[in-house]
Amino acid sequence: MAAVETDRDAPSALCSEFLNFSAKDTAAKWLQVSNLPKEVYQHLACYVPKIYCLGPNLNPQNEDLLAPLLLQSPLEWYLCGEEPSVGLAKLEQNNQPSQLCGHVFKVGEPTYSCRECAADPTCVLCMQCFLGSVHKEHRYRMTTSGGGGFCDCGDTEAWKKGPYCQKHEPNISDSSQKDPLANLSDEMIARTYNVFSIILKYAVDMLTWEKEDELPEGLEPPARGDTYYCMLFNDEVHTYEQVIYTLQKAVNCTQKEAVSFATTVDRDGRKSVRFGDFQFCEQAKSVIVRNTSRQTKPLRVQVMHSSVVAHQCFALKALTWLGQIIRYSDALRRILCQVGLQRGPEGENSSLVDTLMLCDSKMWKGARNVYHQLFMSSLLMDTKYKKLFAIQFAKARMLITEENLMTTIIRTFMDHLRHRDLHGHFQFERYTAQQAFKFRRVQSLIGDLKYVLISRPTEWTDQLREKYLEGFSAFLELLKCMQGMDPVVRQVGQHIEMEPEWEAAFTLQMKLTHIISMMQEWCSSDERVLIEAYKKCLSALTHCHSGFTDGEQPITLSMCGHSVDTIRYCVSQEKVSIHLPLSRLLAGLHALLSKTEVAYRFPELLPLSELSPPMLIEHPLRCLVLCAQVHAGMWRRNGFSLVNQIYYYHNVKCRVEMFDKDLSMLQAGASMMDPNHFLMIMLSRFELYHIFSSADCRKRYNRENANKDVVQQNNTLIEEMLHLVIMIVGERYTAGVGQVECFDEIRREIVHQLCIRPMAHSELVKALPENENKETGMERVIDSVALFKKPGVTGKGLYKLRPESAKMFNLYFHHYSRADQSKAEEAQRKIKRQNGEDSVLPPPVLPRFCPLFASLVNILQCDVLLGILGAVLQWAMEPSGGHWSESMLQRVLHLIGMGLVEEQQHLLSSAEDNDTNFNFTLKISRPGEAPANTPSILALLETLQNAPHLEVHKDMIRWILKTVANIKTTRECTASAPPSDSSGHSQEETVRDKDKAERKRKAEMARLRREKIMAQMSEMQRHFINENKELFQQSLEELDPSTSSTLEHSPSSCDSTLFCVGPRRWRAGGSDRRQVVTCILCQEEQEIRIDGKAMVLAAFVQRSTVMSKNRKRPPHNPDKYDPLFMHPDLSFGTHTGSCGHIMHSHCWQRYFEAVQAKEQRRQQRLRVHTSYDVENGEFLCPLCECLSNTVIPLLPLTKTSCSSEQPDLSQWLNITSLQMKALLSAHRKAKAADADGVDDMDGVNDCPPPDGFKLDYTPKNPYSSTIKEMLTTFGTATYKVGLKVHPNEQDPRVPIMCWGSCAYTIQSIERLLVDEEKPLFGSLPCRQDDCLSSLTRFGSACWTVSSHATVQNHFIRLLAALVPDPRVENTPCILDIDMFHLLVSLVLSHPAVFSLDSSGLSADTAQLYFLHLVTVAHIVQILLSSVPEEVQMEQESGGAEREEEEKVCMFYNTLRTHLGSGLREVDSGWHLWCCVKAGILPYLRAAALFFHYLNGAPAPPELHTLGVGEWEALCGYLCLPSNLLQLFYNNRELMEPVLHGWCSHPGVLQGLQSSVALIRFPRESNHLIELPGDYSALINQASSFTCPKSGGDKSRAPTLCLVCGAMLCSQSYCCQSELEGVDVGACTAHTFACGAGVGIFLRVRESQVLFLAGKTKGCFYAPPYLDDYGETDQGLRRGNPLHLCQERYRKIQKLWRQHSITEEIGHAQEANQTLVGIDWQHL
Ligand SMILES: [Zn+2]
Ligand SMILES: [Zn+2]
Ligand SMILES: [Zn+2]
Ligand SMILES: [Zn+2]
Ligand SMILES: [Zn+2]
Ligand SMILES: [Zn+2]
Ligand SMILES: [Zn+2]
Repeated sequence: MAAVETDRDAPSALCSEFLNFSAKDTAAKWLQVSNLPKEVYQHLACYVPKIYCLGPNLNPQNEDLLAPLLLQSPLEWYLCGEEPSVGLAKLEQNNQPSQLCGHVFKVGEPTYSCRECAADPTCVLCMQCFLGSVHKEHRYRMTTSGGGGFCDCGDTEAWKKGPYCQKHEPNISDSSQKDPLANLSDEMIARTYNVFSIILKYAVDMLTWEKEDELPEGLEPPARGDTYYCMLFNDEVHTYEQVIYTLQKAVNCTQKEAVSFATTVDRDGRKSVRFGDFQFCEQAKSVIVRNTSRQTKPLRVQVMHSSVVAHQCFALKALTWLGQIIRYSDALRRILCQVGLQRGPEGENSSLVDTLMLCDSKMWKGARNVYHQLFMSSLLMDTKYKKLFAIQFAKARMLITEENLMTTIIRTFMDHLRHRDLHGHFQFERYTAQQAFKFRRVQSLIGDLKYVLISRPTEWTDQLREKYLEGFSAFLELLKCMQGMDPVVRQVGQHIEMEPEWEAAFTLQMKLTHIISMMQEWCSSDERVLIEAYKKCLSALTHCHSGFTDGEQPITLSMCGHSVDTIRYCVSQEKVSIHLPLSRLLAGLHALLSKTEVAYRFPELLPLSELSPPMLIEHPLRCLVLCAQVHAGMWRRNGFSLVNQIYYYHNVKCRVEMFDKDLSMLQAGASMMDPNHFLMIMLSRFELYHIFSSADCRKRYNRENANKDVVQQNNTLIEEMLHLVIMIVGERYTAGVGQVECFDEIRREIVHQLCIRPMAHSELVKALPENENKETGMERVIDSVALFKKPGVTGKGLYKLRPESAKMFNLYFHHYSRADQSKAEEAQRKIKRQNGEDSVLPPPVLPRFCPLFASLVNILQCDVLLGILGAVLQWAMEPSGGHWSESMLQRVLHLIGMGLVEEQQHLLSSAEDNDTNFNFTLKISRPGEAPANTPSILALLETLQNAPHLEVHKDMIRWILKTVANIKTTRECTASAPPSDSSGHSQEETVRDKDKAERKRKAEMARLRREKIMAQMSEMQRHFINENKELFQQSLEELDPSTSSTLEHSPSSCDSTLFCVGPRRWRAGGSDRRQVVTCILCQEEQEIRIDGKAMVLAAFVQRSTVMSKNRKRPPHNPDKYDPLFMHPDLSFGTHTGSCGHIMHSHCWQRYFEAVQAKEQRRQQRLRVHTSYDVENGEFLCPLCECLSNTVIPLLPLTKTSCSSEQPDLSQWLNITSLQMKALLSAHRKAKAADADGVDDMDGVNDCPPPDGFKLDYTPKNPYSSTIKEMLTTFGTATYKVGLKVHPNEQDPRVPIMCWGSCAYTIQSIERLLVDEEKPLFGSLPCRQDDCLSSLTRFGSACWTVSSHATVQNHFIRLLAALVPDPRVENTPCILDIDMFHLLVSLVLSHPAVFSLDSSGLSADTAQLYFLHLVTVAHIVQILLSSVPEEVQMEQESGGAEREEEEKVCMFYNTLRTHLGSGLREVDSGWHLWCCVKAGILPYLRAAALFFHYLNGAPAPPELHTLGVGEWEALCGYLCLPSNLLQLFYNNRELMEPVLHGWCSHPGVLQGLQSSVALIRFPRESNHLIELPGDYSALINQASSFTCPKSGGDKSRAPTLCLVCGAMLCSQSYCCQSELEGVDVGACTAHTFACGAGVGIFLRVRESQVLFLAGKTKGCFYAPPYLDDYGETDQGLRRGNPLHLCQERYRKIQKLWRQHSITEEIGHAQEANQTLVGIDWQHL
């Protein structure tokens, strides 16, 4: 073992040498020498290894101290020729700041691109420039940077408009063309040049250095040590886990160290993992290589000599130094650019910049980052060199002419795809990772090509034409290799064995799509280029398909008196390919010829004679027939690869240059052919010719019934063929094919999407093709066809079709899938019916064809088509026995409709030109030709009109007949009357039928829903509900005590005042007390009785910090924490919630056991998680699936009566204190006896109990055994969850936790009602009402299942806080007690003491006096803590208030006499009273809720509404004087000593003087943090956030806690920490401190809200940020500007405030099982 462990000795040995070093002298020496490079190298050779890499770890302190002193300083001295600080300051004075912003983006920083002005989408602005630019008023796109790009502000080539922001606007007065070097002396220039070239060369040499053990010439160290590094490099193959595991083995480090190594390797690209002699390092290397070489290629490891590593380290520093130096002066920057781009001795591509770029991929990431940074601060900041540099990278049109770049790129591209088959087509290997890697290079070439083509020329020069066409030819060569690639042959008999490779070809096609489109756009901008390109393309295509007619004899087709020759070819038997880019390019150019009218102006220039229409249509037709056959199921045995190809062929990403162009080509071809010939060839390719050509084709059902499958197949083929005819005649929205304006096409696409259903902006964008700039053009036209509807609190904004746009609807729109088509049909019919119109959907009126395509309309009236239509109609005379189909008939009717619409249009326009030979009505009125005397189409239709089996088509047939009649009328009376298109009577019957069907469907749905519920219940193996859920819930509510409480709302039992507490309180009569509920599981009714079967509510107990006023308080130690007194900061509480569903305890137990058993079985089978944790007692409510973890028993109201005269406060206090004394001494006696016999009895005085107080009495527990059991169950659950401990029903803290949960839950609901602006009573949903009522009653009963002595002891301690008692220790001061918790605990623990009393005292009296005492204590607490420093102006108030103000003033002064200077002077009584009133209100409201649920007293009507009178009503209801100070003054003698006791607690004075602010009252409700209105502000904030653990690194997933505002580094190894023995991510760790296990976060990069609960649960939630279209952008993919939606944010806040986050997660996980599998704890 030879590891050198010390890294300290070396520098100290050199210390004197360093101290004696003078940078000035060194620089002076350099000025003298002749060979400066050699001298500098010697210097570096000597010092670099002495500073860097002296030990296993880098030592940044030493390095950062020594490197500037020894290495940089002499360079700066030399450069400046004087003291560097002086010299650099001079340079800086003359510096001209660059007009280019050049801001380099950090990872995750927001970038902006203007969708109107950017030259291309890669031109971006930083946030600062954007905000100061004109583009913020334009349509822009926001994205987050992947890091490393730079701001293009100031670059005039990047922006069509507004290239400068306000800050970078050039100052016109000083000429920007001035040479920056003008200010520099020649010597200075020379020196700078020297230094820069030496240092840059040094850095480039070192960073591209590949030898491990040697250094470049001149750098060999004078004394060579024997130390090495084992350097680990990162790759894309191995995972983090593999690296960590391997390192632990190889270098024997801990897991933590391994994680840190792996993190650095990932971040910097390399990291030394071992330092020592060669052997030692080599050993580690071989272990790593061995361990990682098994599956893949091994991790890259090098053993490098330490001096090599040292020089590489300094090389990076040197580049950084260069970057800093040039910041002082634009002149220095210019020189550096010159040095960098200067050609080296090797000629072309040998500059230092070239060298770096060529080695880019070999460098490690850290090095790459540093040199990229330098480039961006030098080359890209200099206006002159930016352009020069751009050539290096390739840019713009001039490159096409000057560098012939287009051709070069395409040739390189071809070189990369070298594999060809016999026909010269590209051939791809299986699409593997390696293939993908190769493709990446190809892709970047396509990127370059796109870059060259992105800005279309406005002016063409001859040279540009020549070079462009040269490039175009090269491109045709490329397309030739693609034409016909990946051919398929139909598989018959057997299924294919292996799916053939297809992805590579489609990837290539997809990548080229925009290039092809851009090529066409370039062509369309110059007529000569267009003509030449057309010729070249045609000859390339002809060349490809030359000889397609060779060999075989043509066959002759004849039908309806026409005949044509064609080749013999069957798609189903021979090779066919989907890839036809040449044909499609030609189709595009053909349409352009038509559009630009070149074809009409220069017909002589076109090779029209060379066009062979049959050849043009052949391949596209085959491709379309292939699709039809696949559809008909003829290619099933060819597997999924073919299905996928067909899918992509039609997909929005490809169709523009695939399917659409094939259709155009058929249109082009057909327009040049006799329509009859065209149709016959088409029939032949569809392999349908034999059906329609036979003489008796009209009797298909007689002849062809051999094979059902074949008939079925042919039916589908006929449907597809008819659809194709519809499209060929009907698709006229391509510019050049039809006479349309530029936005008509996109408008029509949108209309047809919206005909399916209203859609969100993003859905529409997805359905529309994007151009190379990712634009669809949608925004320009959408408002003309659609109306925008804003979203509500959920959902998205939707675009709805404007009603008038529906007339464009075409059922056979070419981009509809069959599914789209039927949805659209249904939707459109429905709308028509709703509007009371006829639901027929006739073909729309179409734009006219361009002249070049005009003859296409004749297809509609040609003999062959009419023959086909007639045949199908004839077949439809008989009900279908499989020989025809509904869709077939529908298409035929549509075609007839198209003919009629066309004729109407012709008639309309012929009013002007009076020339039309389109007479469709005449043609369909003529009888069929062969065989003679067959009925005409019209006659067939008239017969079919009444056929009962054609009910669904009747409206269309009727429409046709009516239109025919109209046309005839029009033709007869030459005066043309506009056709009316509404047919007479509406189809009432069908409407009624549809309604019936709808009702049936609904009934079916309801049945299914019922079945689902039943299935849930049957788990319980019991007879369960068989009614549906709604009904069921209803019956539950009818019987429910709280909903039947309407009685309470109109109190009849009491005439004037209602009290909820005290001896005079409202008491329930016998019938009011009786409660009957129904068990949701067994459906049996049950009365709630003390001695009856226990009924329980499903409940969920959770820890909460929602009301916390101190998130910094560390969590309590669960084993030691004493929860008896809640601190007023409410930092941790226990919340109980319930869905309100009631069960028998035994039914629930059985249910829970079944769930447990099922879960165990499931865990054994497969390790899947559920949304609930059964081992932790969690289950889902059997009815509503709400997450629950325990049950609360339902208890009846306790029976009380108030008999005799009750004592006053002082008497009562007297009796109580005697009782306490007696109890206390009895407890001590017992304790002492337990401890060690009788010895230690001295301190314990014997106190006799007062009359009627029986110390030894053990009250009988009144509850039935099942209720007792449930009391224990819920108590234990609250204890377990609230303290995060193991269940222990004996623990004395069990009852305390129950009272605490009761108090906390009531307080949180009180807050919620304030926040929601709802009245205190009557507005709670009944589930909360039930929960609070059972929780409170449970609280008053839970003592019965605890040790009575324990509860009595709690009571004694609680009371001592209120009535100071010297015998009780550790009593907190009143500033440290939450008074409402104290009140609740006192009232709920009191029965344990009260049960011993038989003297006739009333428990109600005690409750009232507790309330009085606690209220006074709270007033004192408020006055001590909440009186603000500054006293506002005194206000005058009326008489009644006067009294209160005087009293409170007096009271405050009394406090001051007790506390002296601790309390500041306030003499405004009005002000003090305001404080008290405001501060105590939440407490009074909570107390009213508490006593209401405890004693069942109905609330007065004033508390059922919001508004004035609340104070009086509350005080009245609580039996308090509305001047609360009377509580003190009415019992002054008694209260004075109590007050004194409170004030003399040492904690009070400490608290008042402490620097820590006291909790003030009223406590404000907590909010989620404020979020900025604009999302980019958040992105910006997150981009400057660095990981707190890895020293200034960018965090990958910055995540914002919405509760406290902390930014966290989520989902990353660096910030994992250990929590309860498990490694967790930063978010999970944070939730435990901030939210007691529950967390709400915003993942800033993803724009996604994250809910977490515990370590295993979580879900994502829609963020509160919406774009202008009312949509969220989860994942930030679309980049529309996002703004805060307050409404949605409030909704999230409400979920949090009402403790529903965990429940929400549960529901989300139940709905989406994949959420269950996510490792939430690692986020
Ligand atoms: Zn900028
Ligand atoms: Zn700017
Ligand atoms: Zn703009
Ligand atoms: Zn039951
Ligand atoms: Zn439920
Ligand atoms: Zn937080
Ligand atoms: Zn981190």
